[in-house]
Amino acid sequence: MPLGRAHHAVSSLIREMRAATSRVALTPTGGLRRAAPEIGHLSILGVHGAEGSEAFLATCATLPSSTRIVSRTDTAIAIETRYGIVSIHAAAEPHAGAALLCLTGPTTHLEALASLAGAQGLRLEDGQLTDRDGLPMHAPTEEAVYQRLGLHYIPPELREEADALEAAQHSPFPTLVNSLHVRGDLHMHSHWSDGRDSLAEMVAACAALGYEYMAITDHSPRAGSSRQLSHDDVPRQRAEVVALRRAYPRLTILHGAEVDIMPDGSLDFDDDTLRGFDLVLASLHDDAGQPPEQLTARYLAAIAHPLVTAITHPANRSPLVRPGYDLDFAPIFHAARQTGTAVEIDGAPGHLDMDGALARRAVAAGVPIIVSSDAHRASALARQMRFGVATARRGRVEPHHVLNTRSREYVLGFIAAKRAAFG
Ligand SMILES: [Zn+2]
Ligand SMILES: [Zn+2]
Repeated sequence: MPLGRAHHAVSSLIREMRAATSRVALTPTGGLRRAAPEIGHLSILGVHGAEGSEAFLATCATLPSSTRIVSRTDTAIAIETRYGIVSIHAAAEPHAGAALLCLTGPTTHLEALASLAGAQGLRLEDGQLTDRDGLPMHAPTEEAVYQRLGLHYIPPELREEADALEAAQHSPFPTLVNSLHVRGDLHMHSHWSDGRDSLAEMVAACAALGYEYMAITDHSPRAGSSRQLSHDDVPRQRAEVVALRRAYPRLTILHGAEVDIMPDGSLDFDDDTLRGFDLVLASLHDDAGQPPEQLTARYLAAIAHPLVTAITHPANRSPLVRPGYDLDFAPIFHAARQTGTAVEIDGAPGHLDMDGALARRAVAAGVPIIVSSDAHRASALARQMRFGVATARRGRVEPHHVLNTRSREYVLGFIAAKRAAFG
């Protein structure tokens, strides 16, 4: 199941559970908590107080979404819903950390932790950390469990990495980017191209999210999307942006475009048209089919263009659909760094691109990152930004690596600097 659908399924179930029980703290677990692009199994942990698990599990058995009880024990229930089977676990507060850790996984991480525990005469299994006498140890938080094992805390998004455990033996992880760091969204669509909502609705939603700045970036004519921004639409759309700026004086609204990179490396609007935009994003939307050298050449040409501020979804991957371009990104990252061009982590569940592994390489190469929603409807802006941020965390991206954690002056300066350097 893709991340977006898993998130929708679990959050709607958690809403039902909150309506039915207020005393239990609920957390999504498994691949969803790790922000994995593909989720194998849906699971939720409920942490209860002294009242015990029985009432909580009984409530879960009668949720409106539950069509059948698949299994039930003293500490867990599996129910069938229209999204598939969801397992719900209960843990008492003093042991909730070990339970959360075990339910978050993945298996390889838990096996490594279990062997560390074993070396100290402890056991970490079945959601419990037990001492030499087999008694459950006080472990209310995951931090407490890691500490017992002599490790610094490992954020859930990093637990699939083989080298995370090694790193956690030596020093704490730096603060990773989170949603509170994000000050604006530089990639979204309106009904001027294939978005569902009007420009005014997208702007109103960004203002409600408290953003300092946003960019509306509809598709250029040859994007292959269901609708595109035509050459003649550009001045009409700009007039609408100008009017909205008057209505939202505290929000900086950039008039941008997501422009396709053509097979010869040129861009899908002429330079005069591009110069009129405040922000130009460049992207490939064609499925793999060209030789890697040609795809790389197209990216390098776009990166060399003074008006291109960022490359969006650079691998053109789609979880569960296509793996993305098989490219050597080293020359692309090198050129991006040299020219002051950003590369995107796109939070749309159909992209999640760059993924964590590629984002980590981009950061190591010194490339500025943007994290965007690529939302095609106002209601998706916040959710898809969260997915983008979670994907960035999987790449160990820190707030200072991300352009859109910076002030509006910094962002405008970044765009202007590349334009100026090329004259
Ligand atoms: Zn795109
Ligand atoms: Zn887009």
